Amino acid sequence: MSRILIQNPLAVATMNDSKDEFTGGHILIENDKITSIGQDVLDIPADEVIDASGMVVLPGLINTHHHLYQTLTRNIPLMQNQSLFSWLTNHYEVWRELTEEAVSISAKTGLLELMKSGTTTSSDHLYLFPNHTSGELIDAEIKSAREIGIRFQPTRGSMSLGKSKGGLPPDDTVQTEGEIQADTERLLAKYHNDSDGAMVRISLAPCSPFSVTPELMKSTAEFALANGLQMHTHLAETLDEETFCIEQFGARPAKYVDDLGWMNSNAWFAHAIHLNDDEIQRMAETDAGISHCPTSNMRLGSGIARIKEMMDAGVRVSLGVDGTASNDAGNMLMEIRNAMMISRLRDESFWLTAREVLWLATRGGASVLGRNDIGELSIGKQADIALFSVEQLEYAGGMSDPIASLVFSVRTTSVDYLIINGEIQIRKGCSKIDEKALLKTHNDIAGEMLQKAQQKTGINFLE
Ligand SMILES: [Zn+2]
Repeated sequence: MSRILIQNPLAVATMNDSKDEFTGGHILIENDKITSIGQDVLDIPADEVIDASGMVVLPGLINTHHHLYQTLTRNIPLMQNQSLFSWLTNHYEVWRELTEEAVSISAKTGLLELMKSGTTTSSDHLYLFPNHTSGELIDAEIKSAREIGIRFQPTRGSMSLGKSKGGLPPDDTVQTEGEIQADTERLLAKYHNDSDGAMVRISLAPCSPFSVTPELMKSTAEFALANGLQMHTHLAETLDEETFCIEQFGARPAKYVDDLGWMNSNAWFAHAIHLNDDEIQRMAETDAGISHCPTSNMRLGSGIARIKEMMDAGVRVSLGVDGTASNDAGNMLMEIRNAMMISRLRDESFWLTAREVLWLATRGGASVLGRNDIGELSIGKQADIALFSVEQLEYAGGMSDPIASLVFSVRTTSVDYLIINGEIQIRKGCSKIDEKALLKTHNDIAGEMLQKAQQKTGINFLE
């Protein structure tokens, strides 16, 4: 049995049901679980003792929306100042150059970036399967996640509505519904684990109303519900999408997905910005969840989600960094901060507190991913723990509330220790990966993709 003892923390936010916080004491990890936690001093032998004086201890953060492959297309000049639809159509031309290797390297890069900001569990939404690849792209992501030790809940994304059928994506990036279903079943048989402590769990995720047929939306929901799987999609991100749905389907986005069987407790939606009062109420009644992505929403000028109203209505809310072509950081602490900050642009009655946004990034994330084994520091939960030293310049003067200081201040350095499933994956700010070599390969692939796209399309992406 392996045993890790965290001693004498400056502050612990347990995120348990009673939201307990304490100073001093211990957290004991045996194998993959927390077996003791409290304010008393525990003096027993351990394989490793972490002196957490000067550190804030949180449950590992949970990211519920991402497109990891987009680390390859950060801040491309042509798309820097575009809103969703033109941003998408230009990016598709670069993304259609994705290969298995590109998916593998970008997943490793993006997941490592998340881990460095304290993330122990991430979802991903990969929906683009260029026809020139083997199609086994989720496999490449899972392999990368396993290599760096993060808990991973990839979604089998999908697009079936190409340009020739009235959708936005190029035809050679979409698949038939038969292909999507066959690959979904293959992945479930090979990787899906629905037991407590699972390191890999698969969910299903048609991309969005403008890239998927209604038939696929409906069959995906039926299949997910019949098999006890979580399901995910983009919803109500922009007013363009609202117009598209009303013109194409005669319904606002929320009503459209509701009619196709999507309002239920297995579903979580990215963005959910443009919802009216009735739609928020409907989400609460049906126990659907959302992934709030404030940075992406600001970057693309999409709008401000009505998070406080959703929380008050009882909607389950989590946080997502969204893809790094629209963020362009994959940093959960930054996302937590932006979630609080963007709420302050609204009427004071809608402001979120530091504790509320931390809750969204831990318990909120666990809830929408359909898990109760992570997201809190309690006996019997998985040992997913982030330790942040606050003995740094940016926190100077903030020690009247060290936990809130992580939200209010901007951290420029890595998490100090990151423990996932009882294993230390980041120690004294360093991962186990050769980051320099990873970066070199990553940037070579990104450069090649852009060059190929430029040659094939004649579009100048650098202008
Ligand atoms: Zn997204």
